[in-house]
Amino acid sequence: LPEIAFAGRSNVGKSSLINSLLKRKKLVKTSSTPGRTQLLNFFEVNESLVFVDLPGYGYAKVSKEMRKKWGQMIETFITTRKTLHGVVLILDLRRIPGGQERENLAWFDMNNIPVILAATKADKFSRQRQLVQQKEMAKALGIPLDLIHVFSAKTGQGRDELWESILDLCEIDDFKQG
Ligand code: GDP
Repeated sequence: LPEIAFAGRSNVGKSSLINSLLKRKKLVKTSSTPGRTQLLNFFEVNESLVFVDLPGYGYAKVSKEMRKKWGQMIETFITTRKTLHGVVLILDLRRIPGGQERENLAWFDMNNIPVILAATKADKFSRQRQLVQQKEMAKALGIPLDLIHVFSAKTGQGRDELWESILDLCEIDDFKQG
């Protein structure tokens, strides 16, 4: 089955976003990587695709060494996984991304990994202010505005659109949206 991985800083709202997407879906928790702490969690969705929940990476304050370790593990998974169709990169709509995020995007690009950007916690803003934030984020990342999916796990805003992009990447067109 095609796989989509989810990545984001700790506390960005990754679990909430995944849970929101998985509402009313038929789920099978297929496996998690054995040993150590559970690094990767796999969820089979509607017998059609698999979500891979990647461990959240540390705050900016975490040492370079720590970030490197996280990076190496994830990088190996992402670059060698034949069934991986893309990565949903989760950002906080309240926080304008910087050099780290630009580097991450460049890395995905270099490795030909399709990326879907989701800016979550949109409910913290008015619709008008959401657009301002979305524009600022796009500018900071040097990408078109419509590549950023404005999302809220609280209100479900952006859920259908995010699902559409995910199914697109997986080349699935007969999927029961819930
Ligand atoms: P994770 O560490 O990235 O998996 O983040 P969580 O999903 O556990 O969320 C971290 C915190 O952000 C929790 O307190 C959530 O309640 C909150 N949160 C997550 N998503 C949203 C959202 O869409 N809107 C709001 N207002 N809070 C959110």
